[in-house]
Amino acid sequence: MTCYACNYELTQSTATYFAGLKSCMVIIKNVPCLECKRCGEVFYSDPVAERLDEIIAQVKKLVTETAVVEYTDSQAA
Ligand SMILES: [Zn+2]
Repeated sequence: MTCYACNYELTQSTATYFAGLKSCMVIIKNVPCLECKRCGEVFYSDPVAERLDEIIAQVKKLVTETAVVEYTDSQAA
């Protein structure tokens, strides 16, 4: 897979994902991603992006300000 922006080869990596919501801020650490070493662009695969949405939906019910959570693949977290 190559970078959409510059066509450089993407490297498997992890990133910290920030989601600024109306009511709170969610920070998800260690999210698996593909990173472009040339331009710094970060891409998430579809399953990871869906999982991020799930995590954010869960977390925003529980917090009122800022939440920092680890990325997990399972619902049980
Ligand atoms: Zn790039």
